Amino acid sequence: MRARTANRSGIVIRRRVTPAGDIIVTLLTPQGKLKAVARGGVKGPLTSSLNLFHHVAVQVYQGPHNDLASVKQAVLEGALPTLAEPGRYAYAHLMAEFADALFQEGEFSEQAFDLFSGALRGISRQPDPEWVALVMSYKLLGLAGIVPQTARCARCGTPDPAHPDPLGGQLLCGNCAALPPYPDAALDFLQGVVRRTVRASMDTPVPPEQRPALWRALERFVTVQIGGVHSWTQLVPMQAAASG
Ligand SMILES: [Zn+2]
Repeated sequence: MRARTANRSGIVIRRRVTPAGDIIVTLLTPQGKLKAVARGGVKGPLTSSLNLFHHVAVQVYQGPHNDLASVKQAVLEGALPTLAEPGRYAYAHLMAEFADALFQEGEFSEQAFDLFSGALRGISRQPDPEWVALVMSYKLLGLAGIVPQTARCARCGTPDPAHPDPLGGQLLCGNCAALPPYPDAALDFLQGVVRRTVRASMDTPVPPEQRPALWRALERFVTVQIGGVHSWTQLVPMQAAASG
């Protein structure tokens, strides 16, 4: 493998500082996910541009032997400062963790990039960032091809299930379920969100009191299908759900 330099533009979805003062970042770009290291970055000029959720243009150098590309330059192209607000940060963080878990390095996905950057923009400016995060989480799952089954009971296969599946985050029929059925709005959301347009879902928000059950279902589904996502613990609705 030869050494090469490449220019890429993407959003920082993960950022970690090593004890040596290097910054290891993961960017989601229209050409896929890119992981790179800014050596000595914490003390250098790159530190402020390589922040979480920043849209940056980077020049990376891939050496002939080392696996991890090095960031040589990073120029800030865009930032969404309101994402730092307490009511928005946890949702943005959850989306970033999702994107990191769902999409592989080098996997080409312009759609994933567009959907993810749209989610961050929505969370940064919409009056109801929780709703944006719920809708976009399911849309990202749909794009990755990991979709909860809603047409049949996850346990016995009976058509038109309407009850929560507390273990798998899918849907159960009346015979298999221990919990009462979802209210109409929540059930309609679960059945339709993946194929509906984002615009259509944004126009018909599920009432806030029905959302803790939807977060619980999403958390179970993602944990079973993909693995643990740490950001759940930061989400206020999850804490409310756990205590209520
Ligand atoms: Zn059943």
